[in-house]
Amino acid sequence: IFVTFEGPEGAGKTTQIKQVFQYLTDQGFRCLMVREPGGTEIGNRIRQILLDPELSEMEWKTEVLLYASSRAQLVREVIKPHLHQGFVVLCDRYIDSSLAYQGYGAEKSVSEVWKINEWATDGLTPDRTYLLDLPVELGQKRVLNRNAKKDRMELKEKMFHDRVRLGFREIACKENSRYCVIRADQPGEQVFADIIDDLMKWISF
Ligand code: C5P
Ligand code: MG
Repeated sequence: IFVTFEGPEGAGKTTQIKQVFQYLTDQGFRCLMVREPGGTEIGNRIRQILLDPELSEMEWKTEVLLYASSRAQLVREVIKPHLHQGFVVLCDRYIDSSLAYQGYGAEKSVSEVWKINEWATDGLTPDRTYLLDLPVELGQKRVLNRNAKKDRMELKEKMFHDRVRLGFREIACKENSRYCVIRADQPGEQVFADIIDDLMKWISF
């Protein structure tokens, strides 16, 4: 089963995915955790280019293609082989992030972003997707508190992130059979409990 975690900055995706990974592993599931962009040697190099704050003027098509390239590599090199072996694959961001950031956020054609990514991934779609949704201001506050150097996307203006959030919510509505929307402004333990509650209905030995 292929499970993805989506949402804006500071929603806690990375924290939650690690906990879910630990939980499933403790339960005896064979489980793999990957992140985007990256997750392969080639993908990690692409990630460095994408998130470099010194590179602010990247062409939209370049950006779309770089995310899709990292994803194409990850799907073939890592995700598909593990799914074939029966792993639970947990992915921190996937195509919907591209639709939300490079489509809705950038105010460009969502369907073009979708076509490129469908091609790049041979149409591999998640079985279940968790949208960790929270108000943009709260997410941005959490990112600030992280006090690491901000990446290129995190430096974009609030309006951009508002559009990203709305984009995610719209995708979740359209794809509601695969989506589970989780309130990420709750305490972490509650977010985790909500995810596990849903996820355990979908996986079995
Ligand atoms: O998940 P994480 O916060 O590590 O993502 C890294 C960055 O990549 C984020 O700043 C996010 O905004 C950006 N991103 C993006 N478009 C995607 C996927 C991620 O702009 N398709
Ligand atoms: Mg980030």
